[in-house]
This record gives sequence, C-alpha cells and structure tokens, in this order.
Amino acid sequence: MSTPVALVTGGNRGIGQAITLALARSGATVVATARDVATVDDTLKAVHDAGGAAVALGCDVREPGSMVELAAAVDEIGPVSTVVANAGTAGPTAPLHEIDPDDWRDCLVTDVDGVFHTFRAFIPGMIERGSGSLIAISSMTGKRPLHGRTPYAAAKMAVIGLVRSLALELGPHGIRANAVCPGAVAGPRIEDVIRRQAESRGIGLDEARAGFTAASPLGKLVEADEVGAVCAFLASDAATAITGEDLNVSAGAVMY
Ligand code: NDP
Repeated sequence: MSTPVALVTGGNRGIGQAITLALARSGATVVATARDVATVDDTLKAVHDAGGAAVALGCDVREPGSMVELAAAVDEIGPVSTVVANAGTAGPTAPLHEIDPDDWRDCLVTDVDGVFHTFRAFIPGMIERGSGSLIAISSMTGKRPLHGRTPYAAAKMAVIGLVRSLALELGPHGIRANAVCPGAVAGPRIEDVIRRQAESRGIGLDEARAGFTAASPLGKLVEADEVGAVCAFLASDAATAITGEDLNVSAGAVMY
C-alpha cells in the first residue's frame, strides 16, 4: 500500500506546524504550505528530525486559482487522503461598531472563503477515490465569545456550518468532514490576542492573560501538539465513524 499523503495549509508555524508533525509521525507524507514557501523550512527540518517525510508548497488560501494549482501539484506527489484547512488570520479586535469593513472582510475571506477554496480544490480527487478526511481548524471563539472578537467568531462559527453541510454532502462518497475547535493555544498569536484584549477592555496584561487560563478547569492553555494529536486521530482509521463533528480542544474552557 502506498504512503498516505496529507495536506496542511499554514504548515510553516504554530498549530499548522504541530499538525504537520503529528501527521508525519503517523506515517503520512505531509505537504505543508505557506504563502512564502521558504518559511516552511523549520517545519521540514522538524519533520525530518522526527524521521518523517514532508514537502513544502506555496499557496494563498484566498485565491481559488492558487488552491486549484496547489491541488494539481499535490496530486503529483500522490493521492491525498487528508486535507487540513488550518491557515487563518486572527482578524481585528475591537467593538463591532469600530471595526473597519475592510478588516472584517479580510478576516472572513481568509478564515471562511479560505476553507471553501481549500476543500473545493481537493474534493473532486477524493470523490474519485471514494475516501478522504477533511479537517477545518475552527475555534472555541466560534462558540464561546470573547470581547472584541466578532469577525473571528462569525468566521469560525461559519466554518462549523460549512463542515456539517459537507459531512452530509460527502458522506455517501466515503469522505468525512470535521472541525477542530482549539481554545487559547500557547504561542505568539495568543500573546497578541491577550495584548489586544487588554487594550480593548482597558485592563492590564496579567488580568487579560489570567482570563484565558482561569477559564480552563485544568488551569492551562492548550499546546499546539494537543491540537495536532486530535487532527492525526481524525485522519486515522480510528475515526471512521466521526463526521460532521466540531471537536473542542480547549482544556475545558469552552464550558465557561
Ligand atoms: P498563526 O497566525 O501563527 O499562523 C497562521 C497561518 O496561516 C500561517 O501559517 C500563515 O502563513 C497562514 N496563512 C494566513 N493567511 C494565509 C493566506 N491568505 N494564504 C495561505 N496561508 C495563510 O496561526 P495559529 O497557528 O495560531 O493558528 C492556526 C489556525 O488555528 C488558525 O485557523 C487559527 O484561527 C486557529 N486557532 C488558533 C488559536 C490560537 O490560540 N492560536 C485558537 C483557536 C484556533 P503565512 O506565513 O503565509 O502568513
């Protein structure tokens, strides 16, 4: 049997890098993308050091043509069994009435249209083969609102609706579609969100940061590797009965 091929958009850093590593450790050849392909080097090295296989390709998830070209290039490597639409932007943090319409649109175009363009490009091949696992990285923020994060929350909730409809549409073709909803993941992006939260609410950085860990019964932020492990599970044969789900990886914070 040939080695499975997986695609991870935004695989150059953060959560996407962790997902790439987890899928590579599970035995897939992983195609990791970024807009600037050179920025994927760190991920390639990490996968190589872990004894896995990964390839870097460039794409812009906002551009349908770019994603169709990507799908053709990935097809040259092998038939794709897993597509993880991870690339996204945090968008603006401000009260809704202060958000610039261009910033709103940029968030929705990257975080919702980006998932649409990504899946749309890879679905025909999966239908042809009669199998596949589609995974979209949504967010706890789609379900449990955070101050000032309206565009991001709207985008991430839309992704859950997209995935549920896809599960219905593609189930008869043997294709599963799921969303993963991480809570606050330790790393530079959450530090930035904490800073902007503090500014938007007029509170101190420590208070804003404490709000994130206090929401978890485990008293912790989520680690990117913990999101990667869930994606590897959803891609695996252990998850063949799981479709149309939105799995929280929030250290319990989604409950509060
Ligand atoms: P980062 O901001 O660290 O990375 C974003 C990734 O998306 C980068 O790889 C970036 O690549 C890529 N990307 C952004 N815009 C585009 C585009 N137009 N075309 C192609 N690639 C693009 O994000 P995180 O690792 O923190 O988050 C990854 C995903 O997880 C996102 O969907 C995010 O919303 C979600 N998430 C994150 C949480 C967190 O706490 N960090 C919590 C919940 C969900 P490039 O180098 O090209 O910019």
